[in-house]
Amino acid sequence: MELKDITYRNSVKKVLRTIRAQSITTQKKISFETKLAPMTVNNIVRELNEQGIIREVSHETNLTNHSSGRKAMWFSINPHFCYAIGVQMKISSMQMILYNLMLEEIEKSTVDIDFYNMPCVEGISKMASSLAEFIEKASIAKGKILGIGIGIPGTVDHNKGLIYEIPKLVNWKDCRLKNKLENELNVHVSIDNDIKTPVMALIWNNKVNGNIAYVHIKECVGAGIALGGKIFRGNKGAAGEIGHITVEPNGKQCNCGNNGCLELYVTDEAILDDIRQNATLPSDKLLFELCDGDLKRLNIYKAIEAVHQNNGTAMRAFENALNYIIIGIDIVCKTYAPNEVIIDNTWLQLIDKYYYHIIENLHKNNKFFRRSDVNYSFCDMENACSAGAAVLILKSLFE
Ligand SMILES: [Zn+2]
Repeated sequence: MELKDITYRNSVKKVLRTIRAQSITTQKKISFETKLAPMTVNNIVRELNEQGIIREVSHETNLTNHSSGRKAMWFSINPHFCYAIGVQMKISSMQMILYNLMLEEIEKSTVDIDFYNMPCVEGISKMASSLAEFIEKASIAKGKILGIGIGIPGTVDHNKGLIYEIPKLVNWKDCRLKNKLENELNVHVSIDNDIKTPVMALIWNNKVNGNIAYVHIKECVGAGIALGGKIFRGNKGAAGEIGHITVEPNGKQCNCGNNGCLELYVTDEAILDDIRQNATLPSDKLLFELCDGDLKRLNIYKAIEAVHQNNGTAMRAFENALNYIIIGIDIVCKTYAPNEVIIDNTWLQLIDKYYYHIIENLHKNNKFFRRSDVNYSFCDMENACSAGAAVLILKSLFE
């Protein structure tokens, strides 16, 4: 793609960053923001406009520039100049989303791939063929696709594009996914851990800044950390693997080899299993009714409904998990001292009393952070993992 000929220059990236941040802007404003000389900005804007990466737009306050008597020209990023694909790899499926340059979803598809039951080579080949099909269906010229970013459910070397370990997929140890996919697809590929990519998406969309802890507690548990707005990966990309912190030294064995890991007690499935094991008739008639008599059909939303209807077994299961979640978030807060904590969890968002219980306990007898020192929020971004994977690609133009 020809745009690379100019976007490697720092001054060009600066101009692009400013235009993206301001949505629409003028050369005068760009010059003011970037502190680049008006003539330099003029040249860069002309080049970018000629290439099509930015476009001139009409603006209702398109006032006359009184000093020159000419109208100021307004510019914005051309969202359709090029695209990035964001992928979320799961244990038995893969989500692919085509994003434009403004990180808006254009096309989306999820395919079932049983990575668990196939060798790594076969898994990569299925991944490549699904992506090739997706690109073809999206009817976008391959040259317009800047790259493919992938969120991996394991530890990775982001720079080398190497997967160290996927705890639930033993065949993927030390897999050079980036190289292999690039050879098959002839498109630039970048990979990162699937708990780190949502943080990138949130930062990219200006939802958070500063020291950030994104705590994911759903089908798995992990924390994505950003310090000073930059992702903190740590040695072997393993920073934030809080799902495998021991919370019960003599607890159950985890698939990571350790015992009593946090993840075993707080995932949605752990809570549902707790309810299934303890539900009895006639006292839990409600639970059985909610899933037509078969507790295998119990899902997190039905369990939340049972709590709203004051079912004791469901409440006890969630309350058991609460204490472990407090330990997990407390460790993250005291290790990284975030000013923003974003919780990605379904039931804490839907059961207010449990959410407040967590926040109150995190600050009870806490000499280091008052409640007002930390901003808590829920992750409200759809497909944040795939979006952040696309950011891995898009940011090369701007940073
Ligand atoms: Zn573990």
